[in-house]
Amino acid sequence: MRELVQTPWLQRARLPLSMVGVLSALILALNFSMDLLSLLDIQWEHQLLMLGLLICLAAWALAEVMVLHLQRSPGEPLLNPLKTLLIIQLAVQCVRLGLFLMGSSITVDRTYGIRVVDLGLVFVFLPVYLAVFLLVGRALISNYVAEIKFAYRKLQKSSQALTKLATTDPLTGAFNRRHFEERVEAEAARTLRHGTPLSLIIFDIDYFKKINDRFGHHGGDEVLVRLTELTLQNLRSSDVLARWGGEEFIILLPQCDAEEAQKVAEKLRRSIAGQVFGRVGKITCSFGVAEVSRGDLLDSWVNRADQALYRAKNSGRNTVCVADLHLR
Ligand code: GH3
Ligand code: MG
Ligand code: MG
Repeated sequence: MRELVQTPWLQRARLPLSMVGVLSALILALNFSMDLLSLLDIQWEHQLLMLGLLICLAAWALAEVMVLHLQRSPGEPLLNPLKTLLIIQLAVQCVRLGLFLMGSSITVDRTYGIRVVDLGLVFVFLPVYLAVFLLVGRALISNYVAEIKFAYRKLQKSSQALTKLATTDPLTGAFNRRHFEERVEAEAARTLRHGTPLSLIIFDIDYFKKINDRFGHHGGDEVLVRLTELTLQNLRSSDVLARWGGEEFIILLPQCDAEEAQKVAEKLRRSIAGQVFGRVGKITCSFGVAEVSRGDLLDSWVNRADQALYRAKNSGRNTVCVADLHLR
């Protein structure tokens, strides 16, 4: 959908144009009425004034046609009934202007006192009609545009909500496994292209079952949520945190080799061990770190990180272990 934003100069010109347009229409109507009633002789100054007023009306109509054109969404036909009518009105005004310029619209024969009204009665109320038409048309269009904008915003919101549902874990708000895998693919392609390092960290809460047993499932959930917040605080915005399984998380670290990833894991381990998790109190996590290497698939890479995590668990937990590079 094309942005429903009008060009600023046109937006600014619309209000004064419509005000001058309405005023012009009123003056023209008054002038013509008086003329018809023979209360006022039409002099050339009047002709000039009317010419100016008609130019204002024509400019206003042109601005409205342009606004309608800009607000057109893709696929919509170039001409709709309202725009066609506006263009006809515009053409009529131009013809009228032309006739004024040729000086044949209304002539006054002073000698015989004969007034010749070439253009007929139809044109007398045309300016008023045009002004009303433009105002009503614009009100209708504004309403229509407002509705479209509202529907568009609603659609955007639900699309964002759907994207969030599809990519995140509902409990912690961390990314889900599917989204993580997509991000790994994108980052792995970059690594292949530019030869930059790429690492991942897998970590798992120590003795989480005991926490659940003691504080209930709800107490365990609170720990998972707080742990996610704490982890995100310790990461860069380019890092990707996902919930890998029950109480197991995974972090993708673009442009980090194993050594840097180990430092990140160590910092996170200390931060978690130093934190009090509400009524649950202190907890610890164990970490496995692995840098991607030539010939790695996601499975083999995660597997190596998993083995490092397993080693960390076996060496007393609350520890970081780094996997060896896998070389073909
Ligand atoms: P270890 O130190 O070896 O990791 O021991 P552990 O008790 O943490 O490991 P284990 O894998 O035996 O237990 C994990 C527990 O996590 C079992 C499961 O009930 C719990 N769990 C998994 N998902 C959730 C969840 O979403 N919320 C809560 N509260 N508990 C969960
Ligand atoms: Mg555990
Ligand atoms: Mg586990």
